[in-house]
Amino acid sequence: MDMIINGEMVSGSDTFSVTNPFDESTVDRVPLAGRAEAESAIMAAHSARDSMRSLSARKISDKLYDVADELKAQMDPLAEMITLESGKPIRFSRDEVRRSVETAILCAEEARRLYGESIPMDAGIGGGGLYGFTVRLPLGVVAAITPFNYPLNLAIHKVGPALAAGNTAVLKPSLEAPLSAMRLVEIMNEHLPPGAVNVITGRASEIGDVIIDSPLVDKISFTGSVEVGRYISRRASMKKVTLELGGNDPLIVMDDTDVDLAVESAVRGSYLYSGQVCIAVKRLIVHRDVADEFADKLVKKTRSLREGDPMDPETDIGPLINEEAAIGVEKAVLDAADSGAEILCGGKRRGNFVEPTVLDHVNPSMDLVSSETFGPVSPIIRVADADEAIRIANGTCYALQAGVFTDNIRTALRFASEIEAGTVLINKQSTFRVDHMPFGGFKCSGMGKEGVKYAVRDMTRTKLIVLNTR
Ligand code: NAD
Repeated sequence: MDMIINGEMVSGSDTFSVTNPFDESTVDRVPLAGRAEAESAIMAAHSARDSMRSLSARKISDKLYDVADELKAQMDPLAEMITLESGKPIRFSRDEVRRSVETAILCAEEARRLYGESIPMDAGIGGGGLYGFTVRLPLGVVAAITPFNYPLNLAIHKVGPALAAGNTAVLKPSLEAPLSAMRLVEIMNEHLPPGAVNVITGRASEIGDVIIDSPLVDKISFTGSVEVGRYISRRASMKKVTLELGGNDPLIVMDDTDVDLAVESAVRGSYLYSGQVCIAVKRLIVHRDVADEFADKLVKKTRSLREGDPMDPETDIGPLINEEAAIGVEKAVLDAADSGAEILCGGKRRGNFVEPTVLDHVNPSMDLVSSETFGPVSPIIRVADADEAIRIANGTCYALQAGVFTDNIRTALRFASEIEAGTVLINKQSTFRVDHMPFGGFKCSGMGKEGVKYAVRDMTRTKLIVLNTR
């Protein structure tokens, strides 16, 4: 597949093989861009700013509706592409395309809502006779850098709002799974002026700094690991930056809850796309009075999951993105077991597959739960009461989303207020997102919010215009 720069398909002499994590077959090859291609994509986006600004909000909105229609028409091939490049079970890939259609529609709607406000200037000393109002203007060029795990949806969550706000964009998807994002830009490119949206593929070590350092880039919108997010934040200096980073989301189960419901939610949250989700449930913090029952039921459900070919609609658990990732998860599990945790089921690795694994008596200081484990793992941490649950939930640097199961409204409100997280869900697992909600973490889980309306707002600047009426 080719890159798209200034409306043209651009191949490269050097290419990278995108492999299917299920069987290691080559799915496609993509160009390895160097400095020159990255600079020309940025220059194309910079030069296309006037063409974008010449489009009315209505026209941009119509074009984004066209993109949504096209994504919908291509639901099946896009879902298959996501599964082939990422190993995501096909029914979850279909969900991702459905959500991407929804996100495109939200962007089309939001493009018509770039409202300013009227400012009562005479409320201040010397403001009499003045009439003030704000307008929201595009920033210019938005660089979008995306991870492998939701390759289509996270790309449209950045490029869509950028265009809705009248910006141009350069997308750099993950080399692990770049294809559906490239297809998205191909579709957008059919509807927008040349250069308005560009996509480049390449090694981050070759083109990352070119994007971050470019004076022609006005904003960087990044989703990925904490480590890379920190690097970008340090390096980007005065640029606007949004960072959507890693998570270590807790699911807290109190002794007054419906344990079956909590188990159901834990399974949904821990194993979706083999746990390779920023908002996957990564720590099960369970009241000791219900922990035995919870663990037994969780093991039973975990054992019933089907591992296999992600193209099979019956498959629940596919491979991890590559063997290195699978080895890392296996090691974290074995290290936890060596330090006293008890593996109740799973724990083994075959190539890129890690069995869905439940561990009990996990200690919060173990690597498995103190840092982000991106795999199909359910570590149970037993606690005595709400105080301990809150202390442990807040005890890592991550603060993305959190789920709490309790039937007591006072306890629920206490958790809602005291848990440090961008979102607290009561009687629902953290692994939940609709595309218009404000989304983004605190602490090292990130900076700024996505969710279409919020992303659009962060991709504009506000100008105040003052008229003297006297
Ligand atoms: P990653 O940080 O390795 O890579 C993300 C993107 O950054 C890729 O496109 C990569 O090529 C690029 N990149 C890497 N080094 C760079 C550099 N020096 N300069 C510029 N770009 C660079 O992340 P990943 O392994 O693809 O994704 C998994 C991580 O993403 C997990 O930590 C997960 O929690 C997080 N994530 C967060 C969210 C969220 O919304 N908060 C959503 C999905 C994934």
